[in-house]
Amino acid sequence: MSLLSETALPPDSETFTADELNEGQEPAKKRVSFHTLGCRLNQSETGVLARSFEQQGYAVVPDYARAEVYVLNTCTVTEHSDAKNRQIIRKLHRQNPEAIIAVVGCYAQIDPEAIAKIEGVSLVIGSEEKMRITDYLAQIDSQNTVLIVRPKINKTTFTAAVIPHSSALSTQKLRKQTKTIERDVVPANSTLQFSGTTTSHQSTRTSLKIQDGCDFMCAFCIIPFARGRSRYREFSNLQEEARMLVQEGIREIVITGVNVGTYKTGKRTLVDVVDFLNTLPGLSRIRISSIEPTTVPELLFQYMSDAQHKLVPFFHLPLQSGSDIILQKMKRRYSAAEYTDEIWRAFESVPDLCIGTDVMVGFPEESETEFKSTLKLLKKLPLAYFHVFPFSARNGTPAFKMKEQVPPTVKQQRGEKLRLLSTKKRRVFHQKFLGQSREVLWESMKPDGTISGYTDNYIRVVLNELYNSDLRNQLLPVRLKELKGQTILGKFESG
Ligand code: SF4
Repeated sequence: MSLLSETALPPDSETFTADELNEGQEPAKKRVSFHTLGCRLNQSETGVLARSFEQQGYAVVPDYARAEVYVLNTCTVTEHSDAKNRQIIRKLHRQNPEAIIAVVGCYAQIDPEAIAKIEGVSLVIGSEEKMRITDYLAQIDSQNTVLIVRPKINKTTFTAAVIPHSSALSTQKLRKQTKTIERDVVPANSTLQFSGTTTSHQSTRTSLKIQDGCDFMCAFCIIPFARGRSRYREFSNLQEEARMLVQEGIREIVITGVNVGTYKTGKRTLVDVVDFLNTLPGLSRIRISSIEPTTVPELLFQYMSDAQHKLVPFFHLPLQSGSDIILQKMKRRYSAAEYTDEIWRAFESVPDLCIGTDVMVGFPEESETEFKSTLKLLKKLPLAYFHVFPFSARNGTPAFKMKEQVPPTVKQQRGEKLRLLSTKKRRVFHQKFLGQSREVLWESMKPDGTISGYTDNYIRVVLNELYNSDLRNQLLPVRLKELKGQTILGKFESG
């Protein structure tokens, strides 16, 4: 999966001050505010949670607005993520000591006790049960107790974009400072009820979760423990959600999961998901958020090359290292040569393709020679950008115990070199399109009138003129005029 996919495909919400956000809220409604760290999948699941709260009569207010309930959907992919989770919890508690703070997701799965010790936390729910948060909230009886819900992740259970019936839970409540509930898990396809992933402030592009967990067991990765083993969403259920999203006005669906290329239910594969979405009237674009090398169906190249097909020319294919020695130690499933072949095949098959990647620096035993192999490979590949992150030892993973850890300063230096290269490569990629007219799905409009959106091949375009009417959710061509940082300034032909 893409470890930093939230930056690859940022949510299409806007930033407002807390006061602005609270304006116009119905005072009678309880307010809930969500905070999400980590990948696109987490973002998607927060959307579902928001909907479930709305269904329960809550008003959803964005980050840091005053609320009675704060929900933090956590990430645990690095030590830094863990620290950030704890920092946010403390900040929320300082902001409103009376509020209920619920902490859910990957970090809650891996270290619930550490979270429960932080002042202000009332509820901790791991990955398996987080989508049932509104049921568990009703179980909280006082601010002095913490309810921990962390059943074992069941391989057959799918904690995807579905919301359970609000039937009473047969949970056992324990009156202790920290409580743990062990309970039977409801299979994903038995009594679960569908609900969408959008909230009122996400109306252009949204994720469709098709898969969760991972069986690949890369040596550095905590995801198979935090999210469990790979499991797939029922095809009819994702069809139902996709139809509803389009009815609600969504123009672009991002196919999301931890390892989407492995999707399989019966005879259905990722290609069937794309085929189905392509038939949906009203939907303009299909994007795949991130996909593991070696799992990409080649038919997708053909779809992306077809101007009539809704699958956009975009791949995010995590490389992690350009050294075969390190790739083997990481337990990645390809060599540098195989990755190179795949990238060139895609690049030569699909016009205007944008390919991004993830790279890890400072994996244990990564020597200067091995780092240089990565640098050299990244230089020569036709990549548009990369997300770089330092190796972070996660307890429970094989890499945690590896002896030769790379010093933090070396990781930092290597990371900086790669980030610099990524910035240059993005500019080179953008340069190729200057002067062209390209359709942009306009997404966000700031109070000062600035509006931006993305092309199909993932170029962020900022409109270089004032525009009076709201362009959000419209797919309109614009002339790409000028590079500006990591974006391109665009102008309408008639402007
Ligand atoms: S185990 Fe490997 S393939 Fe699976 S989520 Fe982690 S990095 Fe991605």
